[in-house]
Amino acid sequence: MQIIEIFKSLQGESSYAGLPCVFVRLAGCNLRCVWCDSEYTFKGGSRMALDEVMQEVQRLSPNGGLVEITGGEPLLQEREAVPLMERLIAAGYKVLLETSGERPLDRVPPEVVKIVDVKCPDSGEGETFRVENLEFLTSRDELKFVIAGRRDYEFARGFLQEHNLSEGVGGVILSPAFRKDATGSRDVSHCLLDPQLLAEWMLADGLDARLGLQIHKFIWDPALKGV
Ligand code: SF4
Repeated sequence: MQIIEIFKSLQGESSYAGLPCVFVRLAGCNLRCVWCDSEYTFKGGSRMALDEVMQEVQRLSPNGGLVEITGGEPLLQEREAVPLMERLIAAGYKVLLETSGERPLDRVPPEVVKIVDVKCPDSGEGETFRVENLEFLTSRDELKFVIAGRRDYEFARGFLQEHNLSEGVGGVILSPAFRKDATGSRDVSHCLLDPQLLAEWMLADGLDARLGLQIHKFIWDPALKGV
């Protein structure tokens, strides 16, 4: 499979935020979100066999733990990504999959925690989520909405109400979008939407969701890769 990088860091998002995690970042994405901080994944990378990826994960985290399969859009390489997830699970790892939900989720092994990043309108990729995927979400999985403004917030709120999702999935996260060229200071000035405003909207509506910050962007320089 085509791999951009494999590294160990702290999980920055989701309800697993703060835990040590090995990231396997696959190359390629079929979307072009305007605030994408992973454009370096669109091309390049190195061809690695499944065995090589497994060896690298085991070297970085020999005693099990969390592994996130991410990208790009990892399910563009589903033919190899699914066997990789199966092998990781068989080897005792807890596997997270970060995906936009634009690709079918039916072949993802049931043990995998799917973190599905439903694109909101201001991403420029709204309406790409495949609604049929909702039937493959379980109480183990998490839905994420990256929010750049009020329009995105209302989209997320409407989506949750329409599909009654607070009960069907393990968690719902609303996360302020981050400026893709952010560098230097590690503070909320780089957020496209002030987290305080998002918090006020969520509280006013009594939304059954979690406000998420990408904690790796507050721990390290937001421009740093491989963290
Ligand atoms: S889906 Fe992810 S990797 Fe692809 S463009 Fe959007 S943010 Fe970037």
